[in-house]
Amino acid sequence: MKKRSFKGGTHPPAKKELTAKSPIAAMPLPEEVLLPLSQHLGAPAKPLVKPNDRVKTGQKIAEATGFVSVPLHSSISGTVKEIAELPHPTLGVGLAIRIEGDGDDVWDEGTKERANYSGLTPKELREIIREAGIAGMGGAAFPTHVKLSPPQEKPIDTFILNGAECEPWLTADQRLMLENGEGILEGMRLIMRTLGCQKGCIGIETNKGDAIKNLQKLSSAYGYEVIPLKVKYPQGGEKQLIKAITGREVPLGGLPMDVGCVVHNVGTAYAVYEAVAKGKPLIERVVTVTGTIVKNPQNLRTRIGTHFAKLIEECGGTTETMGKLINGGPMMGIAVETDEVPVIKGTSGVLALSQKEARYWEPRPCIYCGRCVDTCPMGLMPNMIGNLAEKEKFASAKEYGVLNCIECGSCSFVCPARRNLVHLFKYAKAKLTQMKES
Ligand code: SF4
Ligand code: SF4
Repeated sequence: MKKRSFKGGTHPPAKKELTAKSPIAAMPLPEEVLLPLSQHLGAPAKPLVKPNDRVKTGQKIAEATGFVSVPLHSSISGTVKEIAELPHPTLGVGLAIRIEGDGDDVWDEGTKERANYSGLTPKELREIIREAGIAGMGGAAFPTHVKLSPPQEKPIDTFILNGAECEPWLTADQRLMLENGEGILEGMRLIMRTLGCQKGCIGIETNKGDAIKNLQKLSSAYGYEVIPLKVKYPQGGEKQLIKAITGREVPLGGLPMDVGCVVHNVGTAYAVYEAVAKGKPLIERVVTVTGTIVKNPQNLRTRIGTHFAKLIEECGGTTETMGKLINGGPMMGIAVETDEVPVIKGTSGVLALSQKEARYWEPRPCIYCGRCVDTCPMGLMPNMIGNLAEKEKFASAKEYGVLNCIECGSCSFVCPARRNLVHLFKYAKAKLTQMKES
């Protein structure tokens, strides 16, 4: 099997064996959900409901506030209890709608299957995808309809379905490719129709041989090519995936559409299928709940808005006191302050670390070894940018390319001083955005 890849990157322990063989289990209906208005990149959604309103499952409860924004739907039926600053898995706190469930799961009348969707135009498909509130489910949460609206002067000739799932510990995409392969490929077909694109490729790392085989078998009817990729982090980064599959280099500061490509994660393709074929907005997703201290790690299909604490509880709790809880995986994930934070559209994993594992990641001063420079897949100098960000020299950090950082975490992973470089880069980027806006 020929394996393709990219330059740079690293090889963290995969740790996928804990959940790779466990079928996706359905999480019980939550008693309450917290639905943050900011679950996607871009402008937060604006509430359409108020406290004490009754809502149904799949009902639109907040509307998009611009082109780069998506609406939000209730993931259970019940009563709106409050709209307030509540725990958020990436922002710490954020404005959210709290809904108390009635336990009945009564669906909104608008969520109906489409008997025939073959005649829908690209414009109609794009509108359905936007109205379903779909944002990239691999973690970036970029509004999907925006990526499906390239300008005329940038035609797309290749669509790449991202099944790499290079983030250690996580297996939600692998299980989805095994258990919902038909829906994923139908979603891919709809995405390609929306883009007017003829060539479809599916990139999967070779440590998911079962998923490769399944999609190879299913995709022969569609004429898509399944491409086995070398197991290397961050193989699932958009730019790295495009390089490995097409040989094209996305220019620094550029986008995949600059080289005729669009990339979507397998979970996003499945959500597109559900929105178009079943009329179902994005109200649930698959989450890998894992860690050596989790009693029964597994993949759970859960409603958006479910508290992390409930997911851990569903997995039997932990065998010892938790040292750190992470939204996502160990490389790109973010530590959360409380297990009361909810699953949002971009939550692919919940990782519980022991106190000993958490201590291992405590940072120390830089020893100037240069390992971070050798490993950066974007050819940056993470040590230098980290030092500049720490000294609040943001303009200089920009000159050294902080805005080209894809936040993959490879530099932090190889750093013997355990420097939390990604945290510094996120901080510098946020400050540069503020400086631009002011
Ligand atoms: S500097 Fe950014 S892109 Fe480079 S390794 Fe670090 S996190 Fe990844
Ligand atoms: S790997 Fe860590 S210790 Fe080595 S140069 Fe980079 S930041 Fe400094």
